Amino acid sequence: MRCPTLFLSHGMPTMALKPGRTGAFWKQLGRDVGRPRSIVCISAHLEGTHPLVTVDPHPDTIHDFSGFPRALYDIRYPAPGDPELARQLIDRLKQAGFHATPLKNRGLDHGAWVPLRHLFPLADIPVVQLSLQAGEPPEYHLALGHAMAPLRDQGILIIGSGGATHDLSSMAGNRIDTPPADYAVAFDDWLADTIAHGELQQLADYQRQAPQAKRNHPYPAEHFLPLLVAAGAASAQPIGKRLFREFAYGVLSLAAYRWD
Ligand code: ZN
Repeated sequence: MRCPTLFLSHGMPTMALKPGRTGAFWKQLGRDVGRPRSIVCISAHLEGTHPLVTVDPHPDTIHDFSGFPRALYDIRYPAPGDPELARQLIDRLKQAGFHATPLKNRGLDHGAWVPLRHLFPLADIPVVQLSLQAGEPPEYHLALGHAMAPLRDQGILIIGSGGATHDLSSMAGNRIDTPPADYAVAFDDWLADTIAHGELQQLADYQRQAPQAKRNHPYPAEHFLPLLVAAGAASAQPIGKRLFREFAYGVLSLAAYRWD
């Protein structure tokens, strides 16, 4: 089974409990994708100075946020890890010239488990996380994805989890249904168009090419970089598709992308 590569916008941690339309979309997407052998997730919430790969056979559920309702901290996503896949991924990245190392005693962060609990509610598909490197340029993250692309032919689902737009500084006072800001819509549409044309180099040059790039993704753009890894894993067939469109709090795009 050849798996697609996906980018998902995970929104706020509260999406775990009240995902709205996005949750219904995630559930359907899980059915559409079928049953991958394992998942490699590149979350905005795991960074390293070089590629780190989680190796725990039984990763904990990390509640890496504060000030949210108690019920969120009770959530567990008990999917197993996949140490063998982790080793294979590290070897593959090393062969491609990356200094990849194992990361022990590190569970799943909310960038991974918030969408995964809706996509694969049984939590029975193993998950490995790979860090991004916020200090490295966009091209580096495309190359990271490219190095992982052959895993897709082994039934491994690659998921980048971040946010298609992510200007948290303008969120204060907004409601979840506040209409989206023009600058967020403009960036979101540029993204869909660029991905639909398979323009990976333009994607990597988004800071110059995309409308209001710095405002939608302030440095270090950790919610955008997972998209570049997912797109890089599409490599030979770079034309992707926006599967879903929604905004929350006026500035957070919840868009999702798929490359086959
Ligand atoms: Zn996030």
